Amino acid sequence: RRADMLARAGELCRMADGTRIEAFANLGSIGDARLARDNGAEGSGLLRTEFLFLERESAPSVAEQTADYQAIADALDGRPLIVRLLDIGGDKPAPYLPMDAEENPALGLRGIRVGLAYPQMLEDQVRAILSVRPTGQCRIMVPMIASLDELRAVRAAVDRIAAELDLPDRVPVGVMIETPAAAVTADLIASEADFLSVGTNDLTQYTLAMDRGNPAVAPGIDGLHPAVLRLIAQTCKGGAVHGRWTGVCGGLASEPLAVPILIGLGVTELSCAPAIIPEIKALVATLGMEACREHATACLACTSAAQVRTLAREFAA
Ligand code: PEP
Ligand code: MG
Repeated sequence: RRADMLARAGELCRMADGTRIEAFANLGSIGDARLARDNGAEGSGLLRTEFLFLERESAPSVAEQTADYQAIADALDGRPLIVRLLDIGGDKPAPYLPMDAEENPALGLRGIRVGLAYPQMLEDQVRAILSVRPTGQCRIMVPMIASLDELRAVRAAVDRIAAELDLPDRVPVGVMIETPAAAVTADLIASEADFLSVGTNDLTQYTLAMDRGNPAVAPGIDGLHPAVLRLIAQTCKGGAVHGRWTGVCGGLASEPLAVPILIGLGVTELSCAPAIIPEIKALVATLGMEACREHATACLACTSAAQVRTLAREFAA
């Protein structure tokens, strides 16, 4: 079965009725990019860039960053690469960022809030991403958006740097939907975002008010909670108003039980752990859109994650 899946690595991810679903990979290193390509990923829906910034005494230079992004883009052989802007903060400290200890790091200076507080760091990272060749392979994704103004600030910086670098085309800039605020205002955000990608790990912790790193609440943290699913549904609808696609790059995209539900809610891109791409593509190939929609509607009416999981297991069977 494994050999069969690998043989299909070169094929595009499609549902049984032919509907295209993009099977992308989450990356955190050059090795991940190679594995993703070999496993049949069609691109990367999330490059976590934190690995370049942590455990060092100073921020990486534009040249250093460019070399690393270029190597990852090259390993993907021209496939699209969505580079997420730096997502460090109180919980992942860097010694060169003079940030005070925070009582609630998850609610503090993190994600794009750090980039906007340290504009030179943001600008260097954007410049490095826009220096990758061929132009157009990289897109930019903004983490932890809570309101449209944050996207506008990034958009302005990207446009300014793109003009300085004489880039011919508009650079796509999308957002991660990781806060309930972003999910419920997805229609407003999508009016200026080029794509939406749901970060279900953070969206789940903020929706359920359960710290994703706290073992005491770990059993309750489940992205299949109907509240999270309703926010994903709202995100897809908000994106569709402006013709924007919605993907999922959080852990839910790598969970076979969740995939039919996400597709039924309107998600058209799944960015998964590289190792599971063949399995996800094989699963999508068995699914029909009508059945996924009905299943998703039933899940939205459930009262608990446990009840959703029961339905999802029945659906899989
Ligand atoms: C997420 O929050 O779902 C996500 C993909 O980002 P990270 O796990 O890196 O916070
Ligand atoms: Mg996140």
